Amino acid sequence: MQRREDLPLSVRVRFLTGRVSLDFTHTGGEGESARWEIVHTPGDLAHWLGVILSVDGLSAGPADMEAMRPLRTAITNAARSLAVGGAVRVDDIATINAAAAVPPLVPQLGAVGAGAGFAAPTTAAALSTIARDAIDLFGGPLAERIRVCASETCGLLLVDTSRPGKRRWCSMQRCGNLAKVRGHRERSALSS
Ligand SMILES: [Zn+2]
Repeated sequence: MQRREDLPLSVRVRFLTGRVSLDFTHTGGEGESARWEIVHTPGDLAHWLGVILSVDGLSAGPADMEAMRPLRTAITNAARSLAVGGAVRVDDIATINAAAAVPPLVPQLGAVGAGAGFAAPTTAAALSTIARDAIDLFGGPLAERIRVCASETCGLLLVDTSRPGKRRWCSMQRCGNLAKVRGHRERSALSS
């Protein structure tokens, strides 16, 4: 399994929202999200779900691809609407609920201290786990804390869990730093 910590920053920024359901929306989609597509084959789906959920040994087939697409679109629609203070569409809610009705991944304790694994993980179960995370997120107080990164060229989602609620960037390492550098440059240009 590839771990998210091992991904280059350019890819890792997709998976720093703090919620697996939002990380999942950053694997691609329809319309605006199509430019981010990294799930072209069932193998890609198994790989990226493995990275997002830290699951070893997933495999996927064409039926999993068909199940994934509407779920990813529904979560994307809901999150991006909530991020601008909008509502969640009834059919997107129905899609998320239907995906969550499938049995989710079952965590399993291996050696004590070695982290949890999953018992016989399947891609269908992984999608259910993603859908259940979306339900928890959209149904709870953090729904109001979903934002789009403040960088005009970024577009990634984030959940602001900071106490003051002033997080603006998908990651400080990327967009936060770029903004800092730009601000510094603009200030020095003005004063020169
Ligand atoms: Zn960003």
